[in-house]
Amino acid sequence: MQNIVLFGPPGAGKGTQSQKLIDKYGFVHLSTGDLLRAEIAEGTTLGLEAKKIMDMGILVPDEVVIGMIDNRIKANPEAKGFIFDGFPRTVAQAEALDSMMTENGIKINGMIALVVDDEELTKRLLIRGQTSGRADDQNEELIRKRVQEYSTKTMPVADYYTKQGKYSAIGGIGEIEEIFTHICNVIDKF
Ligand code: ADP
Repeated sequence: MQNIVLFGPPGAGKGTQSQKLIDKYGFVHLSTGDLLRAEIAEGTTLGLEAKKIMDMGILVPDEVVIGMIDNRIKANPEAKGFIFDGFPRTVAQAEALDSMMTENGIKINGMIALVVDDEELTKRLLIRGQTSGRADDQNEELIRKRVQEYSTKTMPVADYYTKQGKYSAIGGIGEIEEIFTHICNVIDKF
């Protein structure tokens, strides 16, 4: 079993690469962004609360996403492995993930970070906003806010995995297939 954290700022290509990794390795995909949007679509209380926060471009509270991930891990005892996309986004989430892993007798093999500069990110997100229907991709100010949240709250998560000797960085600009090959090369060495 391999459990991988795919890391990177909004627009780095985590969703695209996750899909390819699922097809190749059969991982169960756990994206907190997708899980939150599903709650919003269903109109749950959690979804309504989360939407207000997501529309501000800031992170939802740790306990909310930790609870969602805990449920999904427990709901998939037969998983060949998990790919965490957009989680953990704070050091508290990373610590909680380690506890959840230990509790379930599994571990994180490594974090793979997709590196993309801010200018390219803004460009990609604005393009995605034209088709994704995501309100948070359509407004440049909101995009900047999300990138800023990433820099202040999420970047430290990279150090957390570096200290555990589990961090690998990959250039996220270029051909999708080429980036995918680089990711697979890292995973195959875990
Ligand atoms: P992106 O990476 O493009 O910002 P996501 O779908 O991962 O897109 O996240 C969209 C929004 O959902 C974030 O801006 C944040 O408000 C919320 N969110 C997603 N994952 C988390 C998380 N792990 N912790 C806190 N908030 C989250």
